[in-house]
Amino acid sequence: MPRDLYVIGNWKMYKTAREAAGYVEELEPKVQGCQAKIYLAVPYTSIASAARSAKNTPITIGAQNMNDAREGAFTGEIAALMLKEAGAEFVLLGHSERRKIFGESSEFVHKKTVRALQEGLQPIVCVGEDLEERESGRTEEVLKHQLEKSLSGIPAEDALKIILAYEPVWAIGTGKTATPKIAQEAHAFCRSCLADLFGKKVAGQISILYGGSVKPESAGPLAAQKDIDGVLVGGASLDPHTFAEIALNCEKPT
Ligand code: PEP
Repeated sequence: MPRDLYVIGNWKMYKTAREAAGYVEELEPKVQGCQAKIYLAVPYTSIASAARSAKNTPITIGAQNMNDAREGAFTGEIAALMLKEAGAEFVLLGHSERRKIFGESSEFVHKKTVRALQEGLQPIVCVGEDLEERESGRTEEVLKHQLEKSLSGIPAEDALKIILAYEPVWAIGTGKTATPKIAQEAHAFCRSCLADLFGKKVAGQISILYGGSVKPESAGPLAAQKDIDGVLVGGASLDPHTFAEIALNCEKPT
């Protein structure tokens, strides 16, 4: 069975609620007929307005983070239920900016993944090595560790609901995109780790996206790789024209 193809925009801390609504209206006609599923991970305060504008369109709105608790005394945090009620259908978990700047561990990402699944939010779990780890030949060790700690113990039927994003930290926001060959090697390795965790059949059905300085010209060659099932786009998703170009360039032979 072919895997679903996704193009996901991660707006990070950009775009107000008003800007989000305008963006979705502008993007929608440009991505009609596009092969990939279009997801936008928007700031919390923009979820409701983006979701309203995306209603009855092929665009799906989600969040960039959440807490693992159902509810509680966690000042400044946000719960899966709140995101869902606002209109989010998925959530990014373990983005490298969360891991590096806010000290989030893979154990925490595991708890959040379990909670998101429980509450019916689709988790998009991000993993990736930094430059020092790649240059010292530790890429596979780091990916294996992050995947095991983030996903082990999750039942296989739930694992099928997860999207994985391989995002090498050295490629995020740096303009240095991984070559299709480097990305494919890492994706194939991630898929072998998923096979160890959930069995080969399930691993073969989980979409793995590449993220890291994707541009319209790099999207097509990346998405054409055997184990690359779309892209997660930060900076280049902020402009609807550029993001639509990326989405249209992502295709798999049918
Ligand atoms: C990201 O933040 O997930 C990302 C891939 O960013 P950029 O495309 O800007 O490198």
